[in-house]
Amino acid sequence: MKCPVCKTTELITGKLDENLTSLNCPDCGGNWIRGAEYWKWVEQHGSDLAERLLETESLSLAEPGLPIDCPECRFRMVKYLVGRGLSFSLDHCQGCKGIWLDRNEWEALKKRNLHDDLNTMFTSFWQTEAHREARKKRMIDIYISRFGADDYTEIKRIRWWLDTKTNKEELMAYLTDRDPYAA
Ligand SMILES: [Zn+2]
Ligand SMILES: [Zn+2]
Repeated sequence: MKCPVCKTTELITGKLDENLTSLNCPDCGGNWIRGAEYWKWVEQHGSDLAERLLETESLSLAEPGLPIDCPECRFRMVKYLVGRGLSFSLDHCQGCKGIWLDRNEWEALKKRNLHDDLNTMFTSFWQTEAHREARKKRMIDIYISRFGADDYTEIKRIRWWLDTKTNKEELMAYLTDRDPYAA
């Protein structure tokens, strides 16, 4: 079977984790997990591990790629956002249920204990949340580029302070009035 990213490289059977085999690409470092293999592993692996929130991401991940076709059944694969502070997406084949992971993505998921949640990740509930998170992240980036990081921190603080006040409207009016002392 050929790598769906590199196209011509032959995938090699390897071991991605205890009891989990994958087909690995020696060129791009990606991994193909057959749907049934993943299910089998999730069952053997036992109870769902609690998500670890505070791990910062230090692994070198592949750039977000172009759409790819399933190496098994040639269907165009669907991209699913991981979310939860991880900015990459996974490719999933809706035909054979296989999963494509780019270099280090399994390791990044594992560090956060999200590697046993892939089936949940492919649900619309998870995706709605992940897309909301991605939109928020984009807005934050826009505000930082407009205001600068320091001013953005400051205005967020002011906004939070205003939200704690019962006379928020009056305070806002004072702030935006050109001359609050004019009669
Ligand atoms: Zn490859
Ligand atoms: Zn497929």
